[in-house]
Amino acid sequence: MSADPDSRVPQGRHHRSSRRPWCPACRSEAHLIIESIQSLTPPVPGLVGIEYSCAACNSCFAHPATVQQIAKVLNDAEHHGGILRFGNHYIHCGEPMTVTGVESVRWEAEVSDPPGSAPLATIALSTRILRCRCGFRLDVPT
Ligand SMILES: [Zn+2]
Ligand SMILES: [Zn+2]
Repeated sequence: MSADPDSRVPQGRHHRSSRRPWCPACRSEAHLIIESIQSLTPPVPGLVGIEYSCAACNSCFAHPATVQQIAKVLNDAEHHGGILRFGNHYIHCGEPMTVTGVESVRWEAEVSDPPGSAPLATIALSTRILRCRCGFRLDVPT
């Protein structure tokens, strides 16, 4: 392992503390709207930076939070198989997955009625390839 000259961080390596999304003015999390989810710079495993506002009092907040904490606020979001989905963003291992490319998948399908009365149609579907640092790959139809 090569030493990183910039990593002059004392004992506790990651001192960014996460907080759960919460509006102190309303003493509630019921009205929070997540505005964005981003990787921290430098990245911290399991933590992402979130920005959110409170629809009740119009306060805005931004701080690091864990994916689990965000998932609780996005409780109507899809969160299964370790993937948290937020809009077009997919989060795995606590980090937004990166788009590594777009793939086009084609196949031939019988679309005529009755069958055989017309040539097979070529159906093309493009998917975005998302990858996580851990190697997990997800194909998302565009
Ligand atoms: Zn509020
Ligand atoms: Zn992962």
